[in-house]
Amino acid sequence: MDLTVSKEVEEIKAKARAFVEEVAIPAEDHYDYNRGRMPETLTEALRLEAKKRGLWTAHLPKSEGGLGLDLVGTALIFSELGRSPIAPYLCNCDAPDEGNMHLLHLAANEEQKKKYYYPLVEGKIRSGFAMTEPPPGAGSDPTTLATNAVKDGEHYVINGRKWYCTGANGASFLIVMAKVNDSFRRTTMFLVPTDAPGYTMVREIDVLGSHGPGGHCELNFENVKVHESQILGKVAEGFRLSQERLGPARLTHCMRWIGLSRRSLEIAREYAIKRELFGGKLSEQQGIQWMFAEAALEIESGFLLTLKAADILRKGGDARQAISLAKWQVSETLNKCVDRAIQICGSHGFSRYLKLELFYRDARAARIADGPTETHKMVIGRNLMSGKENF
Ligand SMILES: Cc1cc2nc3c(=O)[nH]c(=O)nc-3n(C[C@H](O)[C@H](O)[C@H](O)COP(=O)(O)OP(=O)(O)OC[C@H]3O[C@@H](n4cnc5c(N)ncnc54)[C@H](O)[C@@H]3O)c2cc1C
Repeated sequence: MDLTVSKEVEEIKAKARAFVEEVAIPAEDHYDYNRGRMPETLTEALRLEAKKRGLWTAHLPKSEGGLGLDLVGTALIFSELGRSPIAPYLCNCDAPDEGNMHLLHLAANEEQKKKYYYPLVEGKIRSGFAMTEPPPGAGSDPTTLATNAVKDGEHYVINGRKWYCTGANGASFLIVMAKVNDSFRRTTMFLVPTDAPGYTMVREIDVLGSHGPGGHCELNFENVKVHESQILGKVAEGFRLSQERLGPARLTHCMRWIGLSRRSLEIAREYAIKRELFGGKLSEQQGIQWMFAEAALEIESGFLLTLKAADILRKGGDARQAISLAKWQVSETLNKCVDRAIQICGSHGFSRYLKLELFYRDARAARIADGPTETHKMVIGRNLMSGKENF
């Protein structure tokens, strides 16, 4: 693994840290608890500030409006931005748009790029990725995919139901996974504009955590007619492309979660250093120091696993095992770190003042979305048993 960091990446990292400290963290105070998101007028203004500071779509090539970082560079920047849960959206590098940009960059033709990719990069529109379905449809097990597209001349007619589609309310288009003519082997990705007749955003689902713009939505597709030019890649390439999207997208989640784990511990450290009890500082208690030490080990291991997977991917290798290890470890680490931070801060940790309760509610989804911990363990274990991977 070569983890040499260029001067340019170090400079962007410093800019990202300054943006989080000076812009994103102060803005968190305006979080609207009733709506479970930031006020849009404020986020639009702060997105302009992110652009001005040269932090827009860091993950994209320079020729397409990004900063030209490779995945290891991206890990360093995203883990800085992830210290505030709102900073990635402000810099247009949050899920699901960031993963969708990656996918469109790889697979969209020029016409599709003009319609969807460039406006997404500019932040003029938002998008969603619709894979998960209500039971008995696809969830942890994609082979139960039920949404179906039937070929009708130059068109495909899509029928199905999706849910937990992040950002769908207000999105301009969705990338929809559907079987073709009921053949699972022919699963395909369709670009579906949200003004297509027959498409309905049924509801934003009430969830434990906060959400970014567009919530997590249930969607219905009733005879939605899509021209064949709206296929992303080719017919039957759906699962290959979803691997291309989900692998890096799981990793960029890990990068942001590392940042949020670190921030939680920083908040707790500040409290522990100031808090006087039992004749000394809370931070002097060995039991508390051990909590920080355990967290440091977990964060450091998770970050290294993330960097390892990023390094394999940037060299064009097969990073599936490394990504599953990183996703499992970092999602669990985030939950443990926020929980510990709340414990260290006592009742104040449980309140809304320190933001930890917001992080705590958000963190829980990390162990479920983009493959629950159990499915990653299953994949890792199978690879080890078959000898495909080693210890
Ligand atoms: C906040 C959030 C945002 C999301 N955003 C999107 C999105 O934008 N687009 C999208 O398509 N989906 C999205 N999802 C859905 C997410 O990807 C699915 O929740 C996930 O794939 C699991 O599917 P499921 O919820 O149907 O759980 P199920 O498949 O019903 O599984 C339930 C539980 O079974 C257990 N389990 C599963 N497999 C195994 C196994 N092999 N061994 C042991 N136990 C197992 C796990 O604990 C799992 O949590 C989102 C989910 C959340 C929570």
